[in-house]
Amino acid sequence: MSAPKPEKVPPRKPAGPADRFNDSWYRASAKAFPRQPRLKGAARADVGIVGGGFTGLSAAIELARAGFDVTLLEAEDIGYGCSGRSGGQIGTEFSCGIEKVEKLVGREIAELAFQVGEDAKSLIRERVDTYGIECELKLGYLHPITRARSWPDLEHEKKVWESYGYDGVKLLDKATLEERLGSEIYHGALWEPAGGHLHPLSFTRGLAEAARKEGAHIHEQSPVTAIGRGTGKGGENVLTTPSGELHCKYVILAGNAYLGKLVPETHRKIMPVGSYILATEPLGEARARELIRDDDAVADTNNIVDYYRLSGDRRMLFGGRASYSTLAPKDLFAFMRPRMLRVFPQLADAKLDYCWGGNVGITMNRMIDVGRIGKTIYFAHGYSGHGVALSGMCGKLMADAIQGQAGRFDALAKIPHTPFPGGPVRTPLLMLAMLYYRLRDLVG
Ligand SMILES: Cc1cc2nc3c(=O)[nH]c(=O)nc-3n(C[C@H](O)[C@H](O)[C@H](O)COP(=O)(O)OP(=O)(O)OC[C@H]3O[C@@H](n4cnc5c(N)ncnc54)[C@H](O)[C@@H]3O)c2cc1C
Repeated sequence: MSAPKPEKVPPRKPAGPADRFNDSWYRASAKAFPRQPRLKGAARADVGIVGGGFTGLSAAIELARAGFDVTLLEAEDIGYGCSGRSGGQIGTEFSCGIEKVEKLVGREIAELAFQVGEDAKSLIRERVDTYGIECELKLGYLHPITRARSWPDLEHEKKVWESYGYDGVKLLDKATLEERLGSEIYHGALWEPAGGHLHPLSFTRGLAEAARKEGAHIHEQSPVTAIGRGTGKGGENVLTTPSGELHCKYVILAGNAYLGKLVPETHRKIMPVGSYILATEPLGEARARELIRDDDAVADTNNIVDYYRLSGDRRMLFGGRASYSTLAPKDLFAFMRPRMLRVFPQLADAKLDYCWGGNVGITMNRMIDVGRIGKTIYFAHGYSGHGVALSGMCGKLMADAIQGQAGRFDALAKIPHTPFPGGPVRTPLLMLAMLYYRLRDLVG
């Protein structure tokens, strides 16, 4: 008998500037998750989900739990995209700020949106408890300022959050902050109690375990290469992969910045922007606590954000820099190290063990973009660097909408979005925008 022919899976084009940098500390330390089989031949489900990150897995858990037959297709492996590479920092509300949302759609929808953000943080804690996910979840988040004159902005932010019902937020002056954070470059901070951080790849894999326990089917190495809209039997949608096809009534698009040009209606509404993270060697408990005393997550308030935290094994995980062009930096360690030393010069002797990157999906207005294409295809993407909590919630909102409770989903879908420019001007324009933001961070 002759050996079976190897399946032909066409090589994927890199999805954006940081796609190929996936040698992360997360991959070296996450809880194992068994390899899931490719989709082979024809299959059917009530709901087909494209993408195995927080968004897709969250929708899968909710729908499978409600009794739907759910199949999730992931192009690579679970957590391959942002969800398995991110800073793991759980922040509050949206990248654009709630006041911008209020300007766009009024106070009523802004209040609903803010509450969605609050529920998003609770949903993480709930999932961790319900499914016993081991992912080093910690609470507490610092937002320091790099210029003294930004202090009124912090006071304003606190008032705004309080007016939306978020209590317990504190202002820390420079001296108090320096007791908690081993850096002298800041002039104060906002501290929030319900933000925090987790090990994102362990959390993603934990969600995948939970989805399987609830009865969802997961296929890895199964990139969807075409979507037949209503072309299946009974007008069902058909998701085609190199080795199979899935017929389903509903489709959930959860590929975010990694989805590429598969769906013409959405691809110009988000843009993949590279973001990078450096991991030092383990620093030991005492040295680590001199850097971040209370194990908070930290993200400064600049446009080009530095975000960092300690890992469970006491490394500094320092993230930041953004590349808007499709060109990735040649030497990631050299690219990121000066940024970390500007904040923590005392780490000059620390050995650097890992550096990786991923594609953040941003929208023009930095607000999440959710909606429907026709009546049966749902999408949620463009978390603009605030997706660790929001993406799980958006997955749940899509699941709610499919179950007939579309109120919150439809309200968020009213937020207007404009596409990014296409063609040859796209990259130069985005690089100009990047320069503009850098200058604004420098001069305030
Ligand atoms: C370096 C980095 C740091 C970040 N840090 C933070 C942070 O600290 N805090 C925060 O809130 N947010 C952060 N983010 C953003 C956050 O991680 C994302 O918003 C969130 O993970 C998005 O989840 P998702 O499931 O929508 O998308 P993803 O996790 O990107 O998942 C999409 C998945 O879809 C798959 N896919 C794409 N196309 C197809 C297809 N055709 N067929 C099948 N599968 C497909 C991809 O392979 C991928 O696995 C960061 C992002 C990056 C890259």
